[in-house]
Amino acid sequence: MIEAQTKRAEPAEDAGTPILTVNNIEVVYDEVILVLRGVSLSVPEGQIVALLGPNGAGKSTTLKAISGLLRTEDGEVTRGNVSFMGEEIANMAPEQIVRRGIFQVMEGRRIVEDMTVIENLRLGAYTRRDGGVRRDLDMVFDFFPRLRERTGLAGYLSGGEQQMLAISRALMARPKMILLDEPSMGLSPLLVKEVFGIIRQLNRELGITILLVEQNARMALHAASYGYIMESGKIVLDGAQADLVDNEDVREFYLGGGGEERRSFKNLKSYKRRKRWL
Ligand code: ATP
Repeated sequence: MIEAQTKRAEPAEDAGTPILTVNNIEVVYDEVILVLRGVSLSVPEGQIVALLGPNGAGKSTTLKAISGLLRTEDGEVTRGNVSFMGEEIANMAPEQIVRRGIFQVMEGRRIVEDMTVIENLRLGAYTRRDGGVRRDLDMVFDFFPRLRERTGLAGYLSGGEQQMLAISRALMARPKMILLDEPSMGLSPLLVKEVFGIIRQLNRELGITILLVEQNARMALHAASYGYIMESGKIVLDGAQADLVDNEDVREFYLGGGGEERRSFKNLKSYKRRKRWL
């Protein structure tokens, strides 16, 4: 792990008005499994913020605590606050959170394979009561022309197309903010570039705020203005994109610049612990 930094970078809220603030949350699964311990982060409106860290750090759990999907896995925010546009949303039902403007695109896309592309897209609009769904389908197809051509079952789409469908389905909810969990997972380098291009486009052209969880730290930090690094259920480092890219620990453990010995450790904390031991 990266050890919690004594000198922290400027907090994200200095970069703009936060649309989302997570304040010191604790998350427990099945009433006893404590997974997040005092996690705080903030996402300025209209920006892309990256949440990075190794497997099992608690990144997906953080997203689910924001979107309310924790509930579907017997998880609960037991301490702290999650505030979206000034309103407390911790432990609210997921559909109520979608109505307020947050949509989570889950890891592994979770598209319904035996439904058509359009049926999947309509699922994204399930909380909407307005009559603009047909118009938004056109908007989504303008954004993702390749999906317009795919009239069959979603299960026949390629991995990249399925990721585009998962993001499009989120757009159908007309979100102010999208939580993206590992959008590059399982995609070829070329498709990863394409998906990240789309993420930047959504942010730039539609003004959607994005909280991005990624294993591909290089791509994520390229897209984001600010980043948080999480290990073992805690935020251990945060900073503006340029500060993180320049940070020696981040370079060695997340951007692949470290020596073989250091990289063979699961994380920075275990490496430092061993160094102290020796
Ligand atoms: P990954 O990239 O592997 O998904 P992550 O950083 O997103 O990692 P989480 O999926 O949030 O991490 O998992 C954090 C911890 O919580 C892990 O120890 C995991 O085993 C545990 N966990 C996740 N989901 C549940 C659940 N539904 N019930 C119990 N424990 C869970």
